[in-house]
Amino acid sequence: MHAPSLLDRSLKSVWHPCTQMKQHEHLPLVPIVRGEGPWLIDADGRRLLDGISSWWVNLFGHCNPRINAALRDQLERLEHVMLAGFTHEPVVQLSERLAALTGHRLGHAFYASDGASATEIALKMSAHYWRNVGRPEKSRFVSLAGSYHGETVGALAVTDVAIFRDAYAPLVRPGSIVPTPDARLAEPGESAADVARRAAVALEAHLAEHHAETAALIVEPLVQGASGMVMYDPEYLRLARALCDRYEVHLVADEIAVGCGRTGTFFACEQAAIWPDFICLSKGISGGYLPLSLVLTTDTIYAAFYDEATARGFLHSHSYTGNPLACRAALATLDIFEQDDVLAANRGLAQRLGDAVRARFGDHPAVSHLRQRGMILAFDVECERPDFSRRFFSAALEHGVLLRPIGNTVYFMPPYVLDDDHVAHLVAGAAAALAEALA
Ligand SMILES: *Cc1c(COP(=O)(O)O)cnc(C)c1O
Repeated sequence: MHAPSLLDRSLKSVWHPCTQMKQHEHLPLVPIVRGEGPWLIDADGRRLLDGISSWWVNLFGHCNPRINAALRDQLERLEHVMLAGFTHEPVVQLSERLAALTGHRLGHAFYASDGASATEIALKMSAHYWRNVGRPEKSRFVSLAGSYHGETVGALAVTDVAIFRDAYAPLVRPGSIVPTPDARLAEPGESAADVARRAAVALEAHLAEHHAETAALIVEPLVQGASGMVMYDPEYLRLARALCDRYEVHLVADEIAVGCGRTGTFFACEQAAIWPDFICLSKGISGGYLPLSLVLTTDTIYAAFYDEATARGFLHSHSYTGNPLACRAALATLDIFEQDDVLAANRGLAQRLGDAVRARFGDHPAVSHLRQRGMILAFDVECERPDFSRRFFSAALEHGVLLRPIGNTVYFMPPYVLDDDHVAHLVAGAAAALAEALA
């Protein structure tokens, strides 16, 4: 059995995230003591395949030897220094390499520690830009139905997930919500691109009326993660980019979940051949090791803040902004992308994973809308039980896999290090869990 004292101590003293704590009267916490590649190992030595990259952050496995070595080296040199008035090699190198990955179109990197802060930074920069160029009335934001951009009060303004937002509605100055291009909304005879065009017509109607007070549109490119791995056609991003240009509205690409190769290209926006005015990155950028987030933006935005007047500067900061250890983890992560040609390798892995999932679930009577974008796979399960997600999660643990459905959507978002045995284990575990959750 588990070491009961650790669980009891955890429940007494740790308020766990995104959790109704009372549920832990029935659902035991899982005490993890070690990580090894795609595996998490619990206190009894039980091995769990991390099918969701520990909340979408881990790219190259747990305790990756190359990232570990980089962090050990950095630890002996410099653990941290404030970034206002100071600089250091890891933050400069990381900024240069990310700028290069955008073809130097978004060549200015601003740092924070978590994804929600990156959202806040992009929104604040956008509105402050318009203020600096003499259009302070452009201070409203637009996001898609089902959008998720984080849970701080500012980020909730553009997050459309009721369970995260409703209790705090009185605190939030809500943005406008426009229809999602969710490909599942296709009418008979309609393609995903048709749905995207339909959603873009609604966006255009909104911007035509409200562009004068709108600072930015924020989107999760290609996959809306937290509302259930909602996937849509790149056509929407092309049209949104054109509309934002036409109506002088910034486009913010929240690539916190979909960036870092997750959808098949380093940035998801590349699949639409467009560049936004802001890119938010977090989650995978540090390989899943340390809290790190950043916002990349353009020369045009940067220039509007560059002035003799202090108040025209972007005076935002966090204590750990640009932390050297986190930046070194990110550099080691980018090294792996280069050295192992990860984007090419992932095309093969995504194909094998997709084939395995389709073979197992494609004809399942309770499964619909099986979908994939790169290293994200999802399907919806027809099940009336309100506790489907928890039942599936618990059953999956019993079969040695970590999978955590969002409502009735089962999804796979594993680290990029799975071999064929891992894929087989993951899919078999999911099949067993589905059977038990439906029973
Ligand atoms: C996870 C996530 C965030 C928030 O990041 P945190 O680090 O959890 O604050 C924002 N946007 C998207 C798309 C995310 O998936």
